[in-house]
Amino acid sequence: MFDKTLWMKRRIFGVGLAAARTGPGRWLTAAMLRSHEPLLALAAAEEMLSRPWRVLALTAHPDDLEYFAGGTIRRLALGGSQITAVVLSDGEKRGNIPDLGRVRREEQLAAARKQGIANVRFFGLTDFGLPEEPRLEPTVARVWAEEQPELVLAFDPKELFPGFANRDHKALGRTVLDLSRKHFGRCRVYLYGTHHANVLVDIGTVLKEKEDAVLTHASQMVYLTEEGHRQAVRWLAEVSAAGAPCQYAEPLYRLL
Ligand SMILES: [Zn+2]
Repeated sequence: MFDKTLWMKRRIFGVGLAAARTGPGRWLTAAMLRSHEPLLALAAAEEMLSRPWRVLALTAHPDDLEYFAGGTIRRLALGGSQITAVVLSDGEKRGNIPDLGRVRREEQLAAARKQGIANVRFFGLTDFGLPEEPRLEPTVARVWAEEQPELVLAFDPKELFPGFANRDHKALGRTVLDLSRKHFGRCRVYLYGTHHANVLVDIGTVLKEKEDAVLTHASQMVYLTEEGHRQAVRWLAEVSAAGAPCQYAEPLYRLL
């Protein structure tokens, strides 16, 4: 049956991606994401990647980690890091598929296997309701205490594109900001999905793997063609590398 909403969204996403990849749209996004000290930021990333860590990668929905930090996670895994991913909600509210939460958990597990993530923990908190979710802070605090990470990855609450904030992403980021002080000196905290990069991970060698990991979330990859989604991943990596001597990058903000 013809789905008018899906058709409209595909048109909007297609036009939006085309505008972002060319001319003023590309210049604008590159200007917003540009690291102020790209050489220092690249060096900070290589220092981070120079040894293995016990990593706790916190996220709000299935596909966030692959989209916003997939290259970083792949490089950490290739360097021998032991990575536990925490997916706070099942992303069950955005899609017209029966048993959507289960479908998205399975997609997340498949993506994690490709990425070399050792363990995925799901918590089933409310999708599109994390700011009001009383279990958010106790859950993050508990899993942080249980996993004893040396390095934490989480959303930057300031968001990648200010003004287009996802409430769940921001809520997770704020919670991590609040909890970080207890772990000062014991744990590094890097925030992804940031437009204030002080760490810039060169993901050129793992870009194709990042694209494949993103596309594993098939139930969410419905607004563009497969090639369109690959182009979107490459575009974000290219504009994130603006001003740096590499072609594809992921921006991080080191908090601790
Ligand atoms: Zn998300």
